[in-house]
Amino acid sequence: MVDQNSIAIAADIGGTQMRAAIVTGDGELIDRGAIATQPDDGIETAANRLADLVESLDVGGRDTTPVGMGISTAGPIDPASGIYKNPPNLHAWDEKSMKPTLEPRLGVPVHVGHDATLAAFAETQFGPHKGAQNLLYVTVSTGVGGGIIANGEMVTGAEGHAGEVGHITVMPGAQACNVGCDGCFEGNASGPAIAKAALARIDAGDETAIWSMAAQDRDQVTAKLIFEAADNGDPVAAEVRAHAVKAVGIGLGSLLNIFDPEALVVGGGVTTGLTDRWDEVVSEVKKFSLAHFQQDPPLHITTLGDDVGLLGAAGLAFRRAG
Ligand SMILES: [Zn+2]
Repeated sequence: MVDQNSIAIAADIGGTQMRAAIVTGDGELIDRGAIATQPDDGIETAANRLADLVESLDVGGRDTTPVGMGISTAGPIDPASGIYKNPPNLHAWDEKSMKPTLEPRLGVPVHVGHDATLAAFAETQFGPHKGAQNLLYVTVSTGVGGGIIANGEMVTGAEGHAGEVGHITVMPGAQACNVGCDGCFEGNASGPAIAKAALARIDAGDETAIWSMAAQDRDQVTAKLIFEAADNGDPVAAEVRAHAVKAVGIGLGSLLNIFDPEALVVGGGVTTGLTDRWDEVVSEVKKFSLAHFQQDPPLHITTLGDDVGLLGAAGLAFRRAG
C-alpha cells in the first residue's frame, strides 16, 4: 500500500510539451509546471531542462524524499530500459533514454512507461475505478490508442508494443489509417479519419453544409465541425458520424469480449464530442459484444482529464517503490 504521506515526481512527455508535477499517494497534484519539449535539441538537453523544472516545483512543505520519478511518454519505448524505439514525434531520441541524465541529477529511481498504458494504470489507482484489476483505457483522438491492465498488471507485450488497439480491423474495405492497415479502428474513428470521410463525400460532389461551415477550407473540416453539422440535421455529416460511431462500437465491443474488464474507460477529443450521443455509442458497443455485456456494458468516459498522464506516471513510481 502507498503511504498517503509519500510523494512522487511525475512527468508527462509529448512531442510539443513536457509537464511535471509533485503528486501525493492519494493523487493530489501539489505543484506542477510545463515547458516546451524541443526534442530536436537532443534527449540529454531535454532531460536536463526537465530536471530543472522538477527542482523548481514546491513539495508543499513535506520533508520526505520522493519515492521515485515516473515518466509517461509517447512511444514506442522499451518500458524496462526507458529507451525510445524509433518514436515518430521524438525522432532525435531514437535508441536513447532520459534515465542516465535524470537519475543522478534527481537522486531517485526513474521509471518510464508508455502514455496509454499509464493512462490505464492511472484509472486503476485514482478516481472512480480505483482498485480495478482489469481495465482498458482507449483514447479516440488524433489517433486511437489503448492501455491494458490485466489481473492488476500493466500489459506491455514482449517488446513494449502491446495496446495498439487502434489498428484492430473493424471495417475491412473502408478507410485505411496512416500506417496503411485496411479498415482499422483508427482509420475509421480517429479525428483525421472522420475529416477524411467527410472530405471524400465533398470531393464526390455530395451536397453538405460541412463545406460552407468550413469556409471551403479543407483544413477546417474537423470531427468537431462535422458533429456540429450532424447536430444541425445535415444528412452527410450524420452518415459520416454514424460510420465513426459504428467503428467505435465494433472496436470497443471486441475489446470487451477479449478482456472482460471491470471498466473500459474512454478518453480523447472524438469521445468528448460524442458525449451527447453516448446512448448511441453504448448501443453500437452492445451490438458487437457478447450476451453478458448487454445488460450494463462497463463503458465509462474518463474523469481524470488532462492529468491522466501525470497520475499514471506517479502511480508507476509508487508501484515500483512499493
Ligand atoms: Zn491502422
